[in-house]
Amino acid sequence: MLFIALVVVGQAVGGPPGRSTPLALSTGELELRVFDVGQGDAILLRFGDGALLVDAGPDPQTARQVLLPRLARLGVERLDGLVLTHADADHIGGAADVLKALPVTNVWMATSRQDHPLLSVIEDAARQGGTRIEEPAHGQALEWHPALSVEVSIAAPSMASGDNNQSLVLHVRYGDADFLLTGDIERAAERVLVDAVGGLEADVLKVAHHGASTSSSPEFLAAVKPQVAVISAGLGNAFNHPRDEVLRRLRGVGAHVYRTDLAGDVVVRTDGYEITVALERS
Ligand SMILES: [Zn+2]
Repeated sequence: MLFIALVVVGQAVGGPPGRSTPLALSTGELELRVFDVGQGDAILLRFGDGALLVDAGPDPQTARQVLLPRLARLGVERLDGLVLTHADADHIGGAADVLKALPVTNVWMATSRQDHPLLSVIEDAARQGGTRIEEPAHGQALEWHPALSVEVSIAAPSMASGDNNQSLVLHVRYGDADFLLTGDIERAAERVLVDAVGGLEADVLKVAHHGASTSSSPEFLAAVKPQVAVISAGLGNAFNHPRDEVLRRLRGVGAHVYRTDLAGDVVVRTDGYEITVALERS
């Protein structure tokens, strides 16, 4: 049985005011770091000396001024993979800048079903950097680190509607710990995952679509049963994300909720048995 061992509000001791120093990652620890990139997603998974980035934030400026400096501060000089969950600007807007700045081994994205002017720019940047582009299949395990598994679920093949529901969903498993990253899926995709895929239970949930009320349906949350829910949203965003009703639904299933708009970077770590959450303001 996993439990949250510690909640730290990070603030540097002796560091510059308002800026915290990242805690070093221990051997055998998996980290899920949901960056505060405003209204968008950029999520880093770290294990050993490996790093996987899931989405790249909303725009080039945020990539250059927020995301890349934070990766540098963490000592991330290369990425084993960049997963682009779906082709909306708030997820792929910074991807070309990341690909130009860092060596990236693989880009995993749903290329054939999506159409966005940024995709060709991203594909060009990937090709120039020698990055392999792959469209993962439903149920495929992404090659990352032998100690853990990263499996892709895609609800979209059986549905016609919208980019959000075509998001690649990642299930990350390490020891007894499960993380579920949901991109921007909405109720229709959640229903497919619950009915047709199953096995959704996860200790940590990256809440879908920034806490929009069209996602995080009661049925989905009942299937996931998260202990920790992380919402990536921009402070004062125009969509009123996250919605109060979603916060209530999350708390209703017993989840501890953390928000990048209020807390800064939300950092979840596990040794495969226990989970800790730390909040880091930059
Ligand atoms: Zn989004």
